[in-house]
Amino acid sequence: MHDFFLSDEDRAFRAEVRDFMARELGPRVDAIEKDQDFSVQLAVARALGEAGYLKVMFRDLYKGNLGKPGLTHAVIVSEEAAYLNYAFETTIATALSCAYPIHAHARPALRERYLTPILEGRAVGSICMTEPNVGSDSAGMETRIRFDEKTREWVIDGFKRYISNASKADVYIVWGITDPDVAPQKGMTAILVPAGTPGLSFPRTYEFMGRRGSVVGEVTLENVRVPEENLLGEVNAGFRIMLGAFNFERVILGGSGLGVARSAFDLARDHAQTRESFGQKLGQKQLIWDMIAQMSWRIDAAELLTHRAAKMYDAGIDGKELMREASQTKLVATETAVFCSDRAVQILGGDGVTRQYGRVEQLYRDARALPIVGGTSEMCKYLIAAREMPAIRPNL
Ligand SMILES: Cc1cc2nc3c(=O)[nH]c(=O)nc-3n(C[C@H](O)[C@H](O)[C@H](O)COP(=O)(O)OP(=O)(O)OC[C@H]3O[C@@H](n4cnc5c(N)ncnc54)[C@H](O)[C@@H]3O)c2cc1C
Repeated sequence: MHDFFLSDEDRAFRAEVRDFMARELGPRVDAIEKDQDFSVQLAVARALGEAGYLKVMFRDLYKGNLGKPGLTHAVIVSEEAAYLNYAFETTIATALSCAYPIHAHARPALRERYLTPILEGRAVGSICMTEPNVGSDSAGMETRIRFDEKTREWVIDGFKRYISNASKADVYIVWGITDPDVAPQKGMTAILVPAGTPGLSFPRTYEFMGRRGSVVGEVTLENVRVPEENLLGEVNAGFRIMLGAFNFERVILGGSGLGVARSAFDLARDHAQTRESFGQKLGQKQLIWDMIAQMSWRIDAAELLTHRAAKMYDAGIDGKELMREASQTKLVATETAVFCSDRAVQILGGDGVTRQYGRVEQLYRDARALPIVGGTSEMCKYLIAAREMPAIRPNL
């Protein structure tokens, strides 16, 4: 597709990032997927940081060649990384999701201490919202945060699960309830917790069907104490900080979905044009070219939505004004990744479900988490519908 939302500068950046990924990430994907060697991911993140690609989101910090850096470019980085390895992409996307609120809400000294290393690829971050009784619905959050007037410290007690980069991150943003007497949305606070803080522990790492090599686990906080300055934004304003990052995360997830979808599509298309069956190429059969056509238009639709949302953000549109477009992006791009990886398996037949015959089976396993993370498809549909029908306020 001629991606007409992108400028010549954006396209040149994409070509540059694609070369970078082929050089730095391409040779290491087996070490990530098969050996699950996290140190390899850290090495690629470091190279990415040194090249300045983790700073493109933050115009005030970026010092590279792009005239107008922004979310458009962060999405391109995500897409090109996910095209080769979704697990690695999740590691850097999570680090950026941690960097984003630090950049917007941390006190200046903390910003310098924690944000710079993440953006230079020397550290990774993690965001801790989900709990056993808190997933899509934050109302049941059980983590408690209180302020100790004597020591002037924040004290955190709680348990988080499904936390990306748990035990590997250098810094954690933890959400918890500071005022249990009001609705959680009005009594929630976000605190920055450095790795190594006493009371912070990681009881378990999960095994997932896909995203092999990424690390997702549990986080226990027992009498975790951090200085007063580790507060992000204002006390009881944590829910707003959480919401403030959602548009950004969902547009980035557009890039993740596109990368996985495009990777599956390229493999399926090659196979359809080379494999012979009943005296013809597979792709000449209507039942097969129908699948190719469906993958093609879905990927283009996802790409158009993703670039539109990224360009809107870069033009200064955010908050409620971007909620519908960011949710559409996340919904369509991640469901497209599932669709394309599923059809790619079908087109490859036995080769599609066999590890020895390439990576389609990996893409199928990897894609499935995409409509769940960062706001499920159902939550995205709710947000789209809520924006479309403000007069009747659809409920959850
Ligand atoms: C690989 C992976 C990485 C993750 N990384 C992080 C991380 O770094 N930090 C973090 O905080 N969390 C993380 N998560 C958690 C993720 O954000 C949650 O899994 C997600 O928000 C869904 O929550 P849940 O799993 O509790 O499902 P639930 O909220 O229990 O939902 C279960 C199902 O019910 C649907 N549903 C729920 N309510 C409604 C409703 N009102 N109407 C219709 N359908 C509904 C949901 O859409 C979903 O399909 C991660 C999860 C995974 C799988």
